Amino acid sequence: MRKPLIAGNWKMYTTLMDAVELASEIRRLTEQLRDVEIAVFPPFPFLVPVAAKLAGSRIGLGAQDCYVADKGAFTGAVSAPMLRSVGCRYILCGHSERRSVFGDSDATVAAKVRRTVDSGMTAVLCVGETAQERRSGQTSVVVGSQVKLGLAQVSAEEIRSNVVIAYEPVWAIGTGDTATPAMAQDVHAFIRETLAGLGTDTLASEMRILYGGSVKPDNVDGLMSCPDIDGALVGGASLEVKSFVRIAKFE
Ligand code: PEP
Repeated sequence: MRKPLIAGNWKMYTTLMDAVELASEIRRLTEQLRDVEIAVFPPFPFLVPVAAKLAGSRIGLGAQDCYVADKGAFTGAVSAPMLRSVGCRYILCGHSERRSVFGDSDATVAAKVRRTVDSGMTAVLCVGETAQERRSGQTSVVVGSQVKLGLAQVSAEEIRSNVVIAYEPVWAIGTGDTATPAMAQDVHAFIRETLAGLGTDTLASEMRILYGGSVKPDNVDGLMSCPDIDGALVGGASLEVKSFVRIAKFE
């Protein structure tokens, strides 16, 4: 049985005060929820104060990225072991904004997945096609290759226990233009088949595949009713307490 995961990616938003308040409100309003896992991904400087607010709760803490080395002369970079040491349980690897704005290649993403797993955390591997790729019928080729290349450095057992996939069509991120449940379900089923090809059927059936891309209170129920959608990676709507909590209470 796959426990749904609702994750909030705060991107480069919030101040210290906003972040701490958002975390405490999410904690207060989701305390009763037992059948869903919740995680938040604040900006780096706010991880420690948010961790303090979440201490003793079941809400997971995650980072939005990490560097591919554990330590060294890499000015400005943050490593997976550092993130583990401040209480992170998850790291987003290969978010489309990291791929398109910061140039993360599939090989870089694979190295970040490796470092995350080595440091005892769960990698949330983000994959998804652009609008142009979808129009030209390339969705499966692009998504299939991002999944395989992103997981190239981890074993089937590590994938099963330490990886979550997030399918985030690039054209749906931050645009308000979400995939329909049927469109998302198609790609999720395809990702599950791809995972089966990497290991065993157990691997494929146990892995959580999240959908991301303009998930809001008014579309989450339809998406979550799909058999292969196991949760959501939420950007914009995760910054508004009420919206995020409603998403976590999907029906
Ligand atoms: C995201 O940041 O991963 C995301 C899906 O953003 P949004 O929900 O705003 O589309």
